[in-house]
Amino acid sequence: MPHAVDPLANLQTLIRCPSVTPDDAGALFALEQMLAPMGFAVDRMTFAEHGTPDVENLYARLGEDGPHLMFAGHTDVVPVGDEAAWSHPPFAAEVSDGILYGRGAVDMKGGVACFVAAVARYITKNGPPPGSISFLITGDEEGPAINGTAKLLQWAADEGERWDACILGEPTNPDTLGDMVKIGRRGSLSGTLTVIGTQGHVAYPHLAENPLRGMAQLAEALLDPPLDAGTENFQPSNLEITTIDTGNPATNVIPAKVSAGFNIRFNDTWTVETLEAEIEDRLARAAASDRLRPGKDSQIRYELDWKRPPSPVFLTRDEALVGAVTSAIETVTGHAPEISTSGGTSDARFIKDYCPVIEFGLVGKTMHMVDECVAVPDLELLTDIYERMISDWFAGRA
Ligand SMILES: [Zn+2]
Repeated sequence: MPHAVDPLANLQTLIRCPSVTPDDAGALFALEQMLAPMGFAVDRMTFAEHGTPDVENLYARLGEDGPHLMFAGHTDVVPVGDEAAWSHPPFAAEVSDGILYGRGAVDMKGGVACFVAAVARYITKNGPPPGSISFLITGDEEGPAINGTAKLLQWAADEGERWDACILGEPTNPDTLGDMVKIGRRGSLSGTLTVIGTQGHVAYPHLAENPLRGMAQLAEALLDPPLDAGTENFQPSNLEITTIDTGNPATNVIPAKVSAGFNIRFNDTWTVETLEAEIEDRLARAAASDRLRPGKDSQIRYELDWKRPPSPVFLTRDEALVGAVTSAIETVTGHAPEISTSGGTSDARFIKDYCPVIEFGLVGKTMHMVDECVAVPDLELLTDIYERMISDWFAGRA
């Protein structure tokens, strides 16, 4: 059998490297051993930054001309948790009743293993692609993500690399392979709001200023009215207050100040700048009211700190890329996928600054859990989908 065409064998090799972030444990070497015999030029680089662990990364390219298709992903995994709770050892990659068990099976060594197999099959049938295929693989997705994809993209761009499209192999399907592709993400913006009062005795509130009264007014202004009603591609933006804290254990003391933390997941109604302006405007207006502070004619004293950096919202509008992925899914599974922008952030937030990016991988149900697993037939299905997608994407660019 030609090299690396079996996604199950590829995945077992990768899972047997216990590459819990930031350890590589041989995972990238194993990947290099799969790619180099196919003709990929492989670069391995370690990125370092003060205060974070060094992390190994890999960039591999087959071909010298455009168009250029990139597959992005990671070989690091989250810790196993309670190892005794696993029904199969987390790094043994055992198959039982058609299910492969192991940490990283779906998040996302499985996606990497399938894309390697898809490229190997494509080359076996067609020879080298009419353009280039590259792998951009980090060992720092599940960790601080400082010595990973962002630096790898910058490194490759400095080397003159340019891409026309990227597929990121994170597990995107909620239940069944082919359910969902992701073409964007809401942005994320966090802040801390502090209201300053004057400490005092609860029996003499006129001598104090309870900052919780001011906080109640400001918190209401953050929450009401809703930020928006959603857009064509996105669910409504949402602000969640995640803590309100005075550090005050006494019920007979009015505290001196109170801090609230909040996070906003926002859609393409907003940019970071317009959203910050909206929040600042709401707070300024609410601070002028004395509704919950009878007898206080001064403004609520408060400070607002935005957490840096925020994550901007993004949406991929590349019809050729989205079309190649969705039609490959429909051809292989018989069903059109839902096109979604739901969920938390991913490395797509870095890639979108370099080229259009779409996310599609395995079924995510067991990711980060004890007994993370993948159905072996899903590995074949995903490999078929990736192979077809590669074919269609290059055919569409010819
Ligand atoms: Zn992942």
